[in-house]
Amino acid sequence: MNQSTIARKVVSAGLGLHSGEDVEITLLPAPVESGIVFVLRGAGEGDGEGEGDEYRSSEIEVPADIRRVYSSSRATTLATEGYPSDGRPPPHIATVEHLLAAIFALDIQNLRIEVFGSEVPIMDGSALPFVVALRSAGRVTQDAPRREFEVEEPFEIREGDRSIRVEPANDLRISYGIDFDHPKIGRQFVEILKLDDKVFEQEIAPARTFGFLHEVEALRKAGLAIGGSLDTAVVLDEEGVLNAGGLRWPDEFVRHKVIDLVGDLALLGARPKAHIKVERGGHRLHHRLVEELETRMRLGSVS
Ligand SMILES: [Zn+2]
Repeated sequence: MNQSTIARKVVSAGLGLHSGEDVEITLLPAPVESGIVFVLRGAGEGDGEGEGDEYRSSEIEVPADIRRVYSSSRATTLATEGYPSDGRPPPHIATVEHLLAAIFALDIQNLRIEVFGSEVPIMDGSALPFVVALRSAGRVTQDAPRREFEVEEPFEIREGDRSIRVEPANDLRISYGIDFDHPKIGRQFVEILKLDDKVFEQEIAPARTFGFLHEVEALRKAGLAIGGSLDTAVVLDEEGVLNAGGLRWPDEFVRHKVIDLVGDLALLGARPKAHIKVERGGHRLHHRLVEELETRMRLGSVS
């Protein structure tokens, strides 16, 4: 299997979940071995007066790399490293995981993603709009093999009742279980025997992110999730689902967790040949998994 990029540029636009502002991203073909790179435009966010404002009109590159994870809280945020030194947050890009999941599942390794602003649009809360955009951009096979990482022995990461177990396998296989004390969720479990573009598009990508009404209210008070609404997420109150159209599947919740996992796996820069079994995961645990895979991959390639 060789690396791929897209055939022509494509634009995706929608609301940013946290800012509530219109965000536009442009996906562009990229050369072989260049990886997935976010290009932040106007990322200095300065007022033109202070130090660091020279970055304002510049382009800052942030590779989709596990070493660039800046925050694992509620979403995956990537940032530059090394500056500024005055305590302001570094140029960053939030909510990358649904887009990265679509890129990974469609087996695209090289892509330039230009963003004006600091988050990827939330779209309908799922990965499907990104799958549709990438499909419309076409696909070009490139002249170098795709990177794969063969997991040689099982290992486990645990945090209280949350865990990820990894076992050697012929290809990428995913099992995911969640348990929520809520009448519409409860225990849900899904298994993907072989993650490929078709299975992802049909069984996983349409699953939307979800949140609870009391959390949404608290986030809004904190100035977050301004763009969050029934158009961008499944919202639950104590009894049920508030969205008029209901759920896309009764187990839409656990299917969405698979999107989050796949998007975080894209930060490895290689396809792990492993069976990944997650129990009650979240971005923080996913990132610990990818860090562990990355360490094993790096040590393995040295020997
Ligand atoms: Zn998500």
